[in-house]
Amino acid sequence: MKKHQELFERQKQYFLAGNTRDIKHRIDSIRSLGNELTRHEKQINEAVFLDLRKSSFELFSTEIAGILHEIKWISAKLRKWTRPIAIRTNLVNLPGHSRVLIEPYGNTLIIGTWNYPFLLTVKPAVSALAAGNPVIIKPSEFSSHSSHILAEIIASALPPELCSVVEGGVLEVTELLKLPFDKIFFTGSTNVGKIVMRAAAENLSSLTLELGGKSPVFVLPDAVQPVTAKRIVWGKFLNAGQTCIAPDFILVHESVAENLIDNLAAQVLLMFGPDPSKSVAFGRIVDQRHFDRLISMIDEKNTVIGGIHNRNDLFISPTVLYPVSFSDPVMKEEIFGPILPVIPYSNLQDAVNLVRSLPKPLSLYVFNQSGKERDSIISNISFGGGCVNDTVMHIANPHLPFGGVGPSGYGRYHGKAGILEFSNQKSMIYKATWIDPFIRYPPFTGFKEKILRKLL
Ligand code: NAD
Repeated sequence: MKKHQELFERQKQYFLAGNTRDIKHRIDSIRSLGNELTRHEKQINEAVFLDLRKSSFELFSTEIAGILHEIKWISAKLRKWTRPIAIRTNLVNLPGHSRVLIEPYGNTLIIGTWNYPFLLTVKPAVSALAAGNPVIIKPSEFSSHSSHILAEIIASALPPELCSVVEGGVLEVTELLKLPFDKIFFTGSTNVGKIVMRAAAENLSSLTLELGGKSPVFVLPDAVQPVTAKRIVWGKFLNAGQTCIAPDFILVHESVAENLIDNLAAQVLLMFGPDPSKSVAFGRIVDQRHFDRLISMIDEKNTVIGGIHNRNDLFISPTVLYPVSFSDPVMKEEIFGPILPVIPYSNLQDAVNLVRSLPKPLSLYVFNQSGKERDSIISNISFGGGCVNDTVMHIANPHLPFGGVGPSGYGRYHGKAGILEFSNQKSMIYKATWIDPFIRYPPFTGFKEKILRKLL
């Protein structure tokens, strides 16, 4: 605790001395981070392979490229995004003008998880640093190889009083959460999100929660075609299904369900071959606890694709279950692995209502060629974000704010949204003194009230 407290105090003094205020300094800091990330790419590849058997292609496309792009883009736009925003001034405040000032919060804690060990720690850290905050990053203990390399990268890119990594698990998070952080940014499960929220309440720290949930995919009858199956299979089995915005389950009209299954099977074969355990494009489950949890969800009776597994290798092949109903065990919690239940429906409104009875998901996907039904689904269900005729790709648009709603989290980041998420938006009125209307000051008279009523 003493060590964390000292680091916290050091960062606080660094912040209070104004060291993070200069925009050029902030841009230099995130660029330095980007340079060290690039310089360590080989070690990052090795670490993420050991943690998750992720291929270098997948690592670069889903983690590193996004971080480097974010650094480049924020560097180009930071001055504009942090400029005071001119706001209209109302009559009673004239003569004067109004501004919203974009200012850093101060001491910031970023808690990450293991499934994208660099993206989910470095990307929010880039936003936090660019917004002018000193940062402590606590990566997940379950991706320990990645966590060690991240600590090395941060230490070589930035001074500890600006940014530092604290490695460890529940104990470290618990100790860190006792400190009065100005901002806490948490990525992880809904249950731990509640623990973090309770701890943040003690200090009334500003909080962002990036959580999970069961993200549905609706496939309407006019959309059953190879490209639909291709995009679902890609989004679902990326990182062996361990992606917060991965499709969790499919809802498909009963008349085309079997056609969709055939298309899914064809795409699984095309992407991962007859033996996916030999495919470099297919990852592994993070640990035996998650492996056992996932295996318990596979019911041999309705396994129509895959279902093959090997505990020693933490391998579960891309698996599709059909037909599944909302009362099946696989529908009781977020899957977070390579198992895809397919639920046939006969009435779209009933399917929408069933999804509405579940906790609000992080993402939702609709495959539909015509606009009416998809718009009805999108407007009738509350969720964080999603795609029409694709999966996962909304996260790849850096102009779109990213986040959940309710049980899938709150707050938004990426690009400008990230800068604002890590900033206090200070509302100011600047008044002139050369005129000072007497009306608001006592003693109050009937005459003053008359004028006031006219003015307001
Ligand atoms: P988790 O909640 O178990 O762990 C996340 C972090 O919390 C880790 O750093 C861990 O050390 C810490 N932690 C764990 N237990 C704790 C406790 N009792 N007290 C304090 N800290 C604790 O997360 P997980 O289950 O490993 O990750 C998977 C979940 O994260 C899924 O639900 C997934 O959807 C979600 N997720 C969300 C996003 C997003 O961007 N919204 C991204 C990735 C993952």
